[in-house]
Amino acid sequence: MDKLLEKDKKYIWHPYTQMKDHDVNPPIVIERAKGIKLYGTNGKMYYDTISSWWCNIHGHNHPKIKAAIKKQIDKLDHVLFAGFTHKPAILLSEKLISLVSDTDLRKVFYSDNGSTSVEVALKMSLQYWKNTGQKQKKKFVHLGNSYHGDTVGAMSVSDVSLFNENFSDIMFDSYKVPSPYCYRCHVKKGINECKIDCIVQLEKLLKDKHNEISAFIIEPLVQAAGGMIIYPKEYIIKAYKLCKKYKIHLILDEVATGFGRTGKMFAYQYTEIKPDFLCISKGITSGYLPLGVTITTDEIYSGFYDYYEKKKTFYHGHTYTANPISCATALASLEIFEEENTLFRIKNLIPIFHRRMEEFRLLAFVGDVRYIGMIGAIELVKDKKTKIPFAFEERIGMKIYKEGIKKGIILRPLGNVIYLYLPLSIKRYEMTIILDKMFDVIKNIK
Ligand code: PLP
Repeated sequence: MDKLLEKDKKYIWHPYTQMKDHDVNPPIVIERAKGIKLYGTNGKMYYDTISSWWCNIHGHNHPKIKAAIKKQIDKLDHVLFAGFTHKPAILLSEKLISLVSDTDLRKVFYSDNGSTSVEVALKMSLQYWKNTGQKQKKKFVHLGNSYHGDTVGAMSVSDVSLFNENFSDIMFDSYKVPSPYCYRCHVKKGINECKIDCIVQLEKLLKDKHNEISAFIIEPLVQAAGGMIIYPKEYIIKAYKLCKKYKIHLILDEVATGFGRTGKMFAYQYTEIKPDFLCISKGITSGYLPLGVTITTDEIYSGFYDYYEKKKTFYHGHTYTANPISCATALASLEIFEEENTLFRIKNLIPIFHRRMEEFRLLAFVGDVRYIGMIGAIELVKDKKTKIPFAFEERIGMKIYKEGIKKGIILRPLGNVIYLYLPLSIKRYEMTIILDKMFDVIKNIK
């Protein structure tokens, strides 16, 4: 075994990894990256088909982002964000607010990852009701198949799954309503007869319990870690109207969908809904540095704005809150969106991508094909007619992952779902190469 890998095995515990698997399949040591390509110390190249955990937007080693990081590090590396502020955070906040000017979101609160951006929204919602005299509003509602992060609050509003079932004893109680999972529609409607009847349970819950509910949290249009479940925008429009009607905050978790993934800057922009909170992270720095952001309304903000003695302060913060280098990186990434006309450029690629995704439908074991923007997924089933899934023990996803790696693409599975989460900087010919390789892998499943 190579020396570096020996030390990796000796010292490191990797996330979301059964470390025993490394005895047979050690991790790949990546030493450099450019564009959408990752280069290993083993001399091999891998296409970054999942944007390094859904973060990378403009490609690796982008000169503008590197220059922004270097420039910022020469000026100010880090400073506490209570009692102090700095230009990168101020400019970034102004820019972010301009990007969501179609909503009432006006105030930016920084943290340092996706889970914390969710924790902040949950805590702000809860405390807002307390501060404004409605202490009984302390429950949260979430969807089946939802995933909002790995901290305890975020797990408590995520569906209990393989990821968090070991921790359910320390998670707080929240209400779960069925996921708008069209392929496995729980009200048994086909796509042509769909009138979003699957929302009935949410409607009933909000009607009956609105006095005790603080917020409804949802990943707009794509339930990402839950299996790239892509659902109709009408669901979220209806959910928004219900939240308005019953005075419940709407928290949109765009940690995975933000920054162009779905073809628009934010997924909610396929609608005209106005959330009370927007959680963003991942793509905000194009995947170069950690940063989390929770944006909220003036109305929420004003529920905290009072004399110190009234104890309405939001006591929450993280050491690396609004790190200046992260903020400068995010600003550079947003400038690239304009300079490289990123959203316009992918508009031409998206239909080609989606057409290619459709081809997978014909293959054995492909039960469903779903896509939006630069996200494409296939759900594998044992039997196409009955939709019976592959059993957990079969590890079909792992088999596919290994085949993908041999071909230089990353097909990291989510259970029985294999997906592409393409960097927005991808070129058409690169997309073709990746899809050809993926097709080959899936076609040859035995
Ligand atoms: N919310 C969503 C929708 C996510 O997909 C994720 C991560 O995948 C998170 C929150 C948590 O983000 P992080 O891993 O940065 O804590």
